[in-house]
Amino acid sequence: KKEYPHIPQEIIERVKKLREEIEYHNYRYYVLDSPVISDAEYDALMRELKELEEKYPELITPDSPTQRVGFKPAEGFKEVPHAEPMLSLDDAMDENEVLEFDKRVKKFLGLPEEAQIEYTVEPKIDGLAVELVYEDGTLKLGATRGDGYVGEDVTANIKTIKSIPLKLKKFDEDAPEIPPRIDVRGEVYLNKEEFEKINQERIKKGEPPFANPRNAAAGSLRQLDPSVTAKRKLDIFCYGVGKVEGYNFKTQWEVLQTLPKWGLKINPLVKLVKNIREAIDYHHEMEKKRQELPYEIDGIVIKVNDLSLWEKLGTKARSPRYAIAYKFQPTQVTTKLLNVVFQV
Ligand code: NAD
Repeated sequence: KKEYPHIPQEIIERVKKLREEIEYHNYRYYVLDSPVISDAEYDALMRELKELEEKYPELITPDSPTQRVGFKPAEGFKEVPHAEPMLSLDDAMDENEVLEFDKRVKKFLGLPEEAQIEYTVEPKIDGLAVELVYEDGTLKLGATRGDGYVGEDVTANIKTIKSIPLKLKKFDEDAPEIPPRIDVRGEVYLNKEEFEKINQERIKKGEPPFANPRNAAAGSLRQLDPSVTAKRKLDIFCYGVGKVEGYNFKTQWEVLQTLPKWGLKINPLVKLVKNIREAIDYHHEMEKKRQELPYEIDGIVIKVNDLSLWEKLGTKARSPRYAIAYKFQPTQVTTKLLNVVFQV
């Protein structure tokens, strides 16, 4: 007996096939740091699956790749649960999808269409997300995002990154006291020059080069031997907080302004804007700047500024409703690089 007699068999087969393929690519990407298809190709598979699941919601399963973030921790690393989940971001590919996001936010909050929402806008750094747990100002744990709920304990490797303080300090008299516990989130990345250098060395040794700076950063951080990580010049831009005890941030802008006063590094290009139009302008500005930046960015992240609205908006299975990644068009360089990789 057929489980879904009203759904054409080929749709059921296609959904199954897409899930298997995406799972395989997730494994290559998140566990091995070695993808075999481009991000654009991967995103197309994901979009197709999402569209089929929207059309036939009965087919959605809790373990579908559309409902989950990243991948479970790799063997060899100790597993660490995140106090608050580290989710993914929905993406927007064009202006219309960004305007739709802004409309959804207002609709969800019961605000009129002409209301203006304040957003923070930040470059979307092409690296990997980590969580830094500070207790009484001391770095106690560094973890990867993993599947969003459980990450990999990479504390020893994190401690080799010079821009990550082992102890938080008040660098500014006006800075608030350092909270007894704060989980800081950021993106660990490699700059373009380091990425090229590492790949040249790998090619010389007959090893396959990394497909992109993100995989190179992930491969460098997720090493069982921290001395390997120490040789790679990894860096970080912090962009948010998870669980915080003893201090109450009111806005995302306040988070971005306060972290550096405690010694944490944030990206210098972050900005506060008055409405979605200004966020779109920032996207154009960053797209123009992109080539000249010493590190890779693949879009911007737009976040509702008021954190009390984050609570009201809440999250979906794999992403929050208060933020969106507005991606750039894939560049020629990325495509060329991937072609090289596939020939190796
Ligand atoms: P994502 O990269 O689209 O967005 C979420 C992540 O953005 C966060 O986890 C964080 O690491 C990062 N980020 C950077 N700057 C940030 C900032 N300022 N604020 C907040 N977050 C910031 O989502 P994802 O779930 O990590 O991965 C999906 C991406 O991985 C897609 O681009 C996809 O193409 C790629 N991917 C590719 C393959 C492949 O085989 N080629 C496989 C899996 C995933």
